[in-house]
Amino acid sequence: MKRVGAHVSTAGGVENAPLHATAIGARAFALFTKNQRQWRAPKLTTASIDAFHKNCSDGCFKPAHILPHDSYLINLGSPDPEKLQRAREAFIEEMQRVEELGLLMLNFHPGSHLKEIAEEKCLQLIAESINISLNTTTGVTAVIENTAGQGSNLGNQFEQLAFLIERIEDKTRVGICLDTCHLFASGYDLQTTKAAEFTFSEFNRIVGLQYLRGMHLNDAIQPLGSRVDRHASIGKGKIGMEVFSYIMHNPACEEIPLILETPDSDAWSSEISLLYSLEG
Ligand SMILES: [Zn+2]
Ligand SMILES: [Zn+2]
Repeated sequence: MKRVGAHVSTAGGVENAPLHATAIGARAFALFTKNQRQWRAPKLTTASIDAFHKNCSDGCFKPAHILPHDSYLINLGSPDPEKLQRAREAFIEEMQRVEELGLLMLNFHPGSHLKEIAEEKCLQLIAESINISLNTTTGVTAVIENTAGQGSNLGNQFEQLAFLIERIEDKTRVGICLDTCHLFASGYDLQTTKAAEFTFSEFNRIVGLQYLRGMHLNDAIQPLGSRVDRHASIGKGKIGMEVFSYIMHNPACEEIPLILETPDSDAWSSEISLLYSLEG
């Protein structure tokens, strides 16, 4: 079964996320387990965790269908040793929150070299950060998201994702989340079925489809290779519909979270129906 959902709000508590997901007809969802623009967060209360479990079970959401996303402040490849340390501590805290919620994955952007260190050095720091956090926690898989390559963000080339995975000690606890807008912005064409097939076969050749743990389904406002991270609603951007039909028929996308991060949350319910209608 395909599991389409959206990155839903946690206003009022994490326990509200599965309720929002249920309301839009989602079979998966993404969430921030804390305010994504702040470093510190109050501990999750037992009441909140219990309510989260109940609402997930009522909505038939299993941990494998829920993809938490980390804070935007965290740069696991920071060139500044103090900031790197802070980022690593914050990332471990995020992993611990994921564990407390009984979830299995944490989705994050690899990091940025900020034009202060070489790409390879930055990638090595990121791999080291992931290894440290996996050694400090149990059970949570680090799910690296491909990026648009905006500014000095790494993770826009499949070779960079493969470089990271190669250096992760526990390969059972590392995965990839592919974002369609980011793929397109970083130069991987998805405008036709043929182009989508080629992009997925390149991903399989360079990284390996067995690492695919989730996808972000977004159209793109800017053209192919723009390296600008601007999401558009499904079918309303430069990518068009063919890739979404390709994904909805792709066995590699079965039972993994397929998450909308499109700008109009009022359209999520119709976007979800539209995506399911592509299954035919
Ligand atoms: Zn992301
Ligand atoms: Zn994304």
